[in-house]
Amino acid sequence: MDKYFILKSVFGHNSFREFQEEAIDAILNRRDLLLILPTGGGKSICYQLPSLMMDGVSVVISPLIALMQDQVYALKDQGVNAAMISSAQSTDEISEVFSKLKSKKLKLLYIAPERLVSEGFLSLLQSIDINFFVIDEAHCVSEWGHEFRSEYRKLGKLKALFPDTPIAAFTATATRKVAKDIENLLCLKNPLLLRGKTKRDNLSITVQKRVSAGKKQLINFLSNFKNECGIVYTFSRREAENVAIFLQSRGFKAKAYHAGLPNKIRDEVYRDFLYEKIDIVVATIAFGMGIDKSNIRFVVHTSLPKTMENFYQEIGRAGRDGLDSQTLLLYSKGDEIKRREFLDEIEDGEYKQALLKKQEQMYRFALSSDCRHKMIASYFGDDIDECGDKCDNCKKERVDIDITIEAQKFLSALYRCGQNFGQNYIIDILRGSGAKKILQNGHDKLSVYGIGTDLSKVQWEAIVDRLFEVEAISRGEFRALKIEKNGFDILHKRLKIEIDEEAIKGSDTFVSKEQNSEDREIFEQFRKLRSEIAKEEGVPAYIVFSDKTLKEMIDVLPQSADEMLSINGVGNLKYEKYGEKFLSLSNSFKQTRENRPAKLSDTHYKTLELILEGDLTLGEIAKRRQFQPSSVLSHIDLLFKHQKIDSDTKEKYFKEADNLIPKNIKKWYNDGLKIADISNLRVYFNILGVLNR
Ligand code: ADP
Repeated sequence: MDKYFILKSVFGHNSFREFQEEAIDAILNRRDLLLILPTGGGKSICYQLPSLMMDGVSVVISPLIALMQDQVYALKDQGVNAAMISSAQSTDEISEVFSKLKSKKLKLLYIAPERLVSEGFLSLLQSIDINFFVIDEAHCVSEWGHEFRSEYRKLGKLKALFPDTPIAAFTATATRKVAKDIENLLCLKNPLLLRGKTKRDNLSITVQKRVSAGKKQLINFLSNFKNECGIVYTFSRREAENVAIFLQSRGFKAKAYHAGLPNKIRDEVYRDFLYEKIDIVVATIAFGMGIDKSNIRFVVHTSLPKTMENFYQEIGRAGRDGLDSQTLLLYSKGDEIKRREFLDEIEDGEYKQALLKKQEQMYRFALSSDCRHKMIASYFGDDIDECGDKCDNCKKERVDIDITIEAQKFLSALYRCGQNFGQNYIIDILRGSGAKKILQNGHDKLSVYGIGTDLSKVQWEAIVDRLFEVEAISRGEFRALKIEKNGFDILHKRLKIEIDEEAIKGSDTFVSKEQNSEDREIFEQFRKLRSEIAKEEGVPAYIVFSDKTLKEMIDVLPQSADEMLSINGVGNLKYEKYGEKFLSLSNSFKQTRENRPAKLSDTHYKTLELILEGDLTLGEIAKRRQFQPSSVLSHIDLLFKHQKIDSDTKEKYFKEADNLIPKNIKKWYNDGLKIADISNLRVYFNILGVLNR
């Protein structure tokens, strides 16, 4: 069987993505490989597909049980013989896997690293025919990565034990330094190095300064994702609990997930998420690696992530199916301070310095006004063009405004207080607060007292952030602010300072696509069918068909087996199993779509506004809009079809219209018009003409 045939018939894909074919060829040619491809780039089939073309078993080393479980489910669903060995299996299950291995029944074996390197297992492996080893999440082998795992180090001896068996290493995140480490520590022999571009084209990145606790920003953002799946990452376990409760109170199906919960509860939350009983998991980073759910539509960070690697991995969990997905990062200066406190416990040295630097880079990323994708790429040693429209900075039409005078006010107040206070105290002085401490210190007598009442506290905070960003101030002991050289230059008018208008406006809106409500309804029905099938089969919903496949189905609404099979993600086996059910749903919607009402435009919305005023008659609306009543009626009809008004409202106007029509005309309409009536009609129009003149 050739690789193109397997790609379609087993995996349902029509063509290879970038680097997949090269990677597969390298494996088939028995060459070592290091493939660095972003999350969702499609690494799995790079080793799954060639395994189906080889005689032996491919051994996949993967660090997380959930990830392995998912892969094994998906493979079995595609008719591929796969199994796993980890602490999640009973001894009976493991001996069953062993006997399958010996009788050459398995194509893919997933295994946890600590199991692989046990003596007994290694000798078993030496007695069977292994195609190649796969090391997934290979960055875990390097201390310079962000998820170093000591058991990965032991994988270094694989090459010595199996000198003729190729090794294929995969990761989504590796700086050049980490890539070199992987190559050296795994003792890869002349590996083919393939590095995909770091940019995830389907992810939009938005970063906002958190306004108070960020709840309003969070709700604004989430209101774009009704009934869609996503993850909200929080700083602490307590915050995860609180945010989950808050979201539940706002009608979202959300649950908390963190390392402090009993295993049983955590498993339950994970399963509820997989099987779409809940839409949102509010989690600390304990929820993460290994989440292989392809239809995660959004990822939110309610505070600054630890490092850029963490950030990139975590946002990478969105949109693995390739569909557009959004990410939102909320940050504040305080986050960096909180993170720093964690590092206080680590002994001074090279390691601590490296961590501090990583934190600083994360904070600078948040503050920056450069293209977010470009910054991430450059962090991982990759140079790409600006994204243009996939991040807040590129989308924004930046208007810089001069804040030199405001900055001088702040710096002057800071100076007059002897540089012994934190930012809130200085802002309070500027805003003329009557706080006891200010009065006790006599700071209400300062000339700067109350000179900043024209700006809100939030706006002053934005200015302070900007002063930090340009290194005009720094934080000294006990968080007291100090003026730096740039600050003195601003005070003495040697340096101007500007700020992005948005930042000082404290923007907290998040505008997004308007969804066609009918497509939504169709999608919901398809999802429902998928859920029912998933439940029957005992697999997560996206294993049946991914969101991407469903969306393509909804676009096309296939009417025959051939049309269905041409959809990306529908292979022969899947078609046999579920195709007909989806086909019949698709048939039923085809009809609806053909009868779909025209789209609403501005003019309809203007009519709607007048209707919503509540007490205008049809005649009055027609007059205000300078339309014939008949045009307004057609608007009303369409507004009703789009469920913008209810049937009572529609009836009210239609009744009014009824009274406008002379009885005779209604009779003609019902009975048919005779020649004699036409002359009557002419008379009628003439009278009207005279009356209106
Ligand atoms: P990774 O392991 O790199 O994060 P996956 O292997 O999980 O990515 O693939 C991500 C998604 O892309 C999956 O839903 C998969 O079905 C899909 N995919 C992979 N290869 C292709 C392809 N050639 N064409 C279309 N979809 C693909």
